Amino acid sequence: MVVANIDASKLTKTLTTKPKALLDPQQLDFGKNFTDHMLCIKYTEDKGWEAPEIKPYGPLEIDPASFVLNYSVETFEGMKAYRASDGTINLFRPQKNMQRLATSSQRIMLPEFDQEQFLECIKELVKTDERFVPNDYGYSLYIRPNFIGTEPNLNLKYSREALLYVYLSPVGPYFPRTVKLYANTEEVRAWPGGVGNYKLGGNYAPALRPAMDVVKKGYDQILWLLGDDHYVTEVGTMNFLIFWITETGEKELVTAPLDGIILPGVTRDSLLELARQWGEFKVSERKVTMPEVVKAIEEGRMLEAFGAGTACVVCSVSTVLYNGKEYEIPVDPNDPNAVFGPLTKRLRDELLDIQYGKKPSPWAVPV
Ligand code: PMP
Repeated sequence: MVVANIDASKLTKTLTTKPKALLDPQQLDFGKNFTDHMLCIKYTEDKGWEAPEIKPYGPLEIDPASFVLNYSVETFEGMKAYRASDGTINLFRPQKNMQRLATSSQRIMLPEFDQEQFLECIKELVKTDERFVPNDYGYSLYIRPNFIGTEPNLNLKYSREALLYVYLSPVGPYFPRTVKLYANTEEVRAWPGGVGNYKLGGNYAPALRPAMDVVKKGYDQILWLLGDDHYVTEVGTMNFLIFWITETGEKELVTAPLDGIILPGVTRDSLLELARQWGEFKVSERKVTMPEVVKAIEEGRMLEAFGAGTACVVCSVSTVLYNGKEYEIPVDPNDPNAVFGPLTKRLRDELLDIQYGKKPSPWAVPV
C-alpha cells in the first residue's frame, strides 16, 4: 500500500469568522499573541499524511493517553517571517529549519515528511495571515512548527499517529541590552550520546529550574558547560560565540563544534558563513574551556562574546560568573554605553539587512 506524503496542492482552507484585531506594536509581548489561523497535518501509519488544513486558530483535540502527553514525543522549530520595505514577506533560510525538524523527529521515531511540501504549506499559512506580519523594521512574525506523537497507547514502542501543526505569533523587536551569564558547574544541558543537538521539547523542560535559579541570583542566562574541563557549550537557548586574540596572537571567532552536544543554530551557521566570506580573521568551530576563557579575559585578549539565535539575532555578553567570581567581558572599549561590540553589531546588521530585504541574498526566501 502506498502511504501518502504531505501534498501542498491538497491543502484546504477554512477561514475564521472572527478575525482578531491587530495589536499595537508596543503590545507585542514575545509569544503571547497568535494570529487567526493555524496549519494542521495529520498522519497515521496506515494512510500516511492527510490533506493539510488551514483553519481557525484554536485548541487541539488529542487523546489523554497520547504519546506526546506521556513520553514527551515532541519536537518543534522556531523561525520568522520578515516584511521588507517593498512589502515582500521573507523567510530566512527556512530549509534549514525543515532539515532540523526532520533530524529531530527521526530521533524520536516520528514519521518522515516531505520538507518542501511542508514548507509550501507554511508559506500559505503566512500568506493567509499576512496582515499580522508587522511593517516595522525589527518586528516580525514568529513561526512555530510543532510535531507530536498522538497515538493513544501507553506501550512504549513508537507513535503510529502524529500531528504536524504550525501557528504564528507577531513579535516586537528585541530591545538590545547586554546580558550577564552564570556559568553552571552543577548541571548540564546536554551530554555525549545525548540529544542536545535535537530540538526536542524534552530538552527544554529540565532547563527551566536552573534558568530560574540564576535569574533569582541576578543573572540573565546560564552558560552551559560540560565535563571536568568545563567545556563551554551554549548560552540559555542560544549558541555562544567568542571573538578573541588567541595565545598565539591571532584574531579568532570561535564557537563550539557540532559534536552532538550543540543545537545546530541557523543563526550560528549564518554568522560563521558571513565571517568566513569576509576572510578578515580566523573562524573556528572547536572546543573552548572555561579556564581558557578566564585566562583570555585576565590577559586582555577577550574582545567580544555573544549569544546567537533567531529570537534576538545576537546578544552581547558583559559579565560571566564562574566558580564564584565575576569576570567582565568587554562590549565596546570605545563606547561605555554600547549594547553590542563592534563585530557583534556588524554581524547583526548584515543579517538584519538580509532578513528585511535590504541586501539581496538567496537566504531570504519570499513566501
Ligand atoms: N541553542 C538552543 C538550545 C536553542 O533552543 C536555539 C533556538 N532554536 C539556538 C541554540 C539557536 O538556534 P537558531 O539560530 O536556529 O534560532
